[in-house]
Amino acid sequence: MNTYSADRSNLPIRDRLGLRPIINVSGTMTTLGASIIVPEAIAAMAEIASQWVEMDDLQRAASTVIARLTGGEAGFITACCASGITMAIAGAMTGTNLLAIERLPDDTEGLKSEVVIQLGHIVNYGAPIDQSIRLAGAKTIPAGTVSVTQDYHVREAINERTAAGLYVVAHHTVQYGMLSLEEFCEICHATGVPVIVDAASEYDLRSFLARGADIVVYSGHKFLSGPTSGIVTGRKDLVRTAYLQNRGVARAMKVGKESIAGAMAALEAWERRDHAGIRRLEEAALNLWKDALQGIAGIGAEIIPDPTANPLDRLQVFVRPESRFTAAGLASALAAGSPPIIVRNHEVERGHFFLDPCNLHAGEAEIVAERLRAVLSAAERPANAMKEPRKESSGALRWPD
Ligand SMILES: *Cc1c(COP(=O)(O)O)cnc(C)c1O
Repeated sequence: MNTYSADRSNLPIRDRLGLRPIINVSGTMTTLGASIIVPEAIAAMAEIASQWVEMDDLQRAASTVIARLTGGEAGFITACCASGITMAIAGAMTGTNLLAIERLPDDTEGLKSEVVIQLGHIVNYGAPIDQSIRLAGAKTIPAGTVSVTQDYHVREAINERTAAGLYVVAHHTVQYGMLSLEEFCEICHATGVPVIVDAASEYDLRSFLARGADIVVYSGHKFLSGPTSGIVTGRKDLVRTAYLQNRGVARAMKVGKESIAGAMAALEAWERRDHAGIRRLEEAALNLWKDALQGIAGIGAEIIPDPTANPLDRLQVFVRPESRFTAAGLASALAAGSPPIIVRNHEVERGHFFLDPCNLHAGEAEIVAERLRAVLSAAERPANAMKEPRKESSGALRWPD
């Protein structure tokens, strides 16, 4: 229940707005506010907020920064990665035909309007990726099966209507049996089909273009710790046609000057960031949590690398029945405490969850360690300690109540 009331102006903003002071150990989650924005980006956003600017010039400046950091020929900032995907696809469909841009998404007559994607890449990141394809007016052509894609699956899926191939790099995708980016690019490029890569939460800003992608799209608010935004980079002709969609479907995905300036500042801060120092802090948090879980019956803990090879480890916490918790039950016990601790729980039905150290404020790692021990050493278990994870969506329908 939100207890917003306007007469508490001397309180911190979360208290003022009636928001719970959560500790996020789940990663860069849209539902938890996406990122802790770096000070450089906050300053840039505040500074530009009260100024008039010529948006095409601001995006030109962004293009220069993006090109320098990614090795792309050009780039721009958009509302988020999902909108960048839609814009890149729409651009591959319309080219520079300004009327076609206004006709999307429902009138695609005369345009290439199919997008080939491996079936194991049709992920959901809060919304299904095929909807980002459909928003452009394109049709999703799945290639292969959920567990295997062969070269011929993609080759045979391509025809004269194919506008683009879409390749997803993420822990969300099937992690085996899929074509590599190089293989996917080779097949698409053999018939002149451009490849768009969704690299929303990948730290590596250069390798996907270097490995053959024509366009790569990142989130500005994930590892980059920028404001909610997306970054499109790659071949200049395709970046241009994607950018032109601001005159069409992307109007409904408008990015503001403050997000553009903030994302640029976050990119430049990324260049200067003390990556090794941050890694050491993350390792210290992981070891603290691992130690806190030592010797507790039914609980195992292992530090594991990120599935897509980002320079980030997480603590995998195994929850067995001797602990008198299920993984889902322990996750909800942590979320029910004060302050609520939100773990990375997308695999709880497999009997584990993860603790992600990449979004901590000073002192929070210690609170998480204490709470783990307190919850697990309490004589009493909460009522729902052994709850089974259920796909229960009715809560979404109750908002705003
Ligand atoms: C988060 C994510 C997205 C969506 O990114 P937004 O910037 O939030 O729109 C798309 N693809 C993948 C793989 C993601 O992880």
